[in-house]
Amino acid sequence: MSKQVPIAAGLFTWPAARPALLASRCEDCGVASFPAAESCMACSGQHVAIEELPNRGTLWTWTVQRFMPKSPYASDETAETFQPYGVGYVELPGGVRVEGRLTESDPDKLRIGMDMEVVFAPYRHEANGDEVIGFFFRPA
Ligand SMILES: [Zn+2]
Repeated sequence: MSKQVPIAAGLFTWPAARPALLASRCEDCGVASFPAAESCMACSGQHVAIEELPNRGTLWTWTVQRFMPKSPYASDETAETFQPYGVGYVELPGGVRVEGRLTESDPDKLRIGMDMEVVFAPYRHEANGDEVIGFFFRPA
């Protein structure tokens, strides 16, 4: 029986009815970072709290990855089956920019400032059949 496993621990709530990305927010200066860190990137403060990020934001910048990334790029794809994909930064309410893959790779359908929402979907399969769940942004 295959199961679904998150691509990395602590990146988002999983399993969850409504999964959410997880950030750390500094209790001293208020700066949030994703992925969550044990200390603040801005002031080096040690008092950080984990919080769930909103599921919607706006596209801050983006590009299209047109060739297969070098190892350790882990996916089910080979050089023959590789499909270009969009990648971008999405600015979420609360002042966090999150880099992630986009579900859209057509430049005509992407523009800076558009509304995006995070979705959680299979990213690749492990050798044992488990589905590895990652996060993606899609036009909202
Ligand atoms: Zn801080």
